[in-house]
Amino acid sequence: QVVTQSLLYVDGVSVTFDGFRALNQLSFIIAPGEMRAIIGPNGAGKTTMMDVITGKTKPDTGDVIFAGETDLTQLDETAIANLGIGRKFQKPTVFESHTVEDNVLMAVKADRTVFGTLFSRHSRPIMARVDEILGIVRLGDHRARMASELSHGQKQWLEIGMLLAQDPKLLLVDEPAAGMTDAETAATADLLKDIAKSHSVVVVEHDMGFIRELGVKVTCLHEGSVLAEGTLDQVSSDDRVIEVYLGR
Ligand code: ADP
Repeated sequence: QVVTQSLLYVDGVSVTFDGFRALNQLSFIIAPGEMRAIIGPNGAGKTTMMDVITGKTKPDTGDVIFAGETDLTQLDETAIANLGIGRKFQKPTVFESHTVEDNVLMAVKADRTVFGTLFSRHSRPIMARVDEILGIVRLGDHRARMASELSHGQKQWLEIGMLLAQDPKLLLVDEPAAGMTDAETAATADLLKDIAKSHSVVVVEHDMGFIRELGVKVTCLHEGSVLAEGTLDQVSSDDRVIEVYLGR
């Protein structure tokens, strides 16, 4: 069955704000282990889609089934986060007056506390987990620095690391490359590809070069629905996508 084999099964989701249809019968499927890029012009409904998945916005109609069984439209934001759905907003929110290492350590400890294992036999490998995460997000050499001293790009990576501490089953990432230098953008693509080896990821992004680096399936939204879906080459050569998005 399609639903039970999907990590995220979005079916016929509509959201109306004051009579305006922000999402209009939106349907798409994320497979377990997949990384997907979501594109589309401003106002296409990308943020609203993320808000529906995380429970911030409730749809008027439609289903959002997680891991083949849980209807996210029936749960609040905390319950959805506890299922293992992590969201990275565009603006990084790290603890500026703590070191890079402490930021990740706090996130790892918070996760263990949630599951009641902080002082149990699991407490010893906490630093091993911190090291592992710092390596994944390319901040091993910066661990002793204050978070406030990091570049914009490095802060984004640190926040991704803090989300990884929760071992999310699905990671939602909003415009990770926005405001980054070319070198940081390239490193971010590498980093997400590493993360995608062991996580499912949905990335909303405008930077086509960045999406090409990711090399993943692309979904283009327009007026709250899926306009086109496929490889980046397929989607970017679609006449409707060129008209509403790329050709501007
Ligand atoms: P995107 O992220 O693709 O730019 P959004 O999901 O932010 O698109 O917005 C989709 C449409 O819904 C836009 O036209 C936006 O103005 C409208 N919208 C989003 N949130 C609200 C809200 N809280 N109240 C009214 N309109 C909203």
